[in-house]
Amino acid sequence: CGIVAFVSGQPVQDRTVHALEKLEYRGYDSYGFSFAQSDGVKASDFAIVRGVGPLSEQAQALVAGGLPQVNAAIGHTRWATHGGVTVPNAHPHRSFDGKFAVVHNGVIENFLELKRDLIAGGVEFSSETDTEVIAHLLARHYATSGDLDAALHATLAQLSGEFGLAITCADRPELLIGVRRLSPIAVGIADGAGFICSDPVAVAGQDGWIAYLEEDQIAFVTRDAVRVASFLTPDFPAVELERIPLT
Ligand code: GLU
Repeated sequence: CGIVAFVSGQPVQDRTVHALEKLEYRGYDSYGFSFAQSDGVKASDFAIVRGVGPLSEQAQALVAGGLPQVNAAIGHTRWATHGGVTVPNAHPHRSFDGKFAVVHNGVIENFLELKRDLIAGGVEFSSETDTEVIAHLLARHYATSGDLDAALHATLAQLSGEFGLAITCADRPELLIGVRRLSPIAVGIADGAGFICSDPVAVAGQDGWIAYLEEDQIAFVTRDAVRVASFLTPDFPAVELERIPLT
């Protein structure tokens, strides 16, 4: 339903929570965040915080309670399509090896078939969602090739359906990855952070610019740069998008 993600030289955990609150008007049944641990000690760990019900009732307590101080975070509000409204089904979903965290808007139409193959290969699932296959496929392909671009290309080529995605990889804590097929995703720079969002309301009024991904595009977002490409072509040839000033 709603996606926000930030990466910056400054801590981003609190602003990620507040940006996600701005997407509440779209309606949702549960919410979640992943805070990428970038201290280099346990790079494969994401702190995942999820809940059922209105974020606005929890946001104050979450921020006051002291969230992990991180330079990259993603947040999601879920409108359940596959799997009940439960904490384990709330996004982000993490890969079996702990390396990837994924949030998803839309539906993966062929997820049952993909899930069957992953289970046959020994992967254990921790949710009933269609989304979770994406995290495990990324980990599978990444383990095989050791190359993030190759893992992204191979995974996206296996998916059918609609997907707006934000992804983090523990080996690249300074990077956010955004993907769009039939579900809106925008990227840009706002108040000193690289961002991904599904709705410009998340960053309205901040200082910077926004660009809307086109169909079948992928974006690599760091604290001060954004690179956009078609994900249909393996070497991800760069494309330029119009940068619209934020207001
Ligand atoms: N299909 C996913 C799920 O049910 C994502 C739903 C959404 O767009 O929020 O978890």
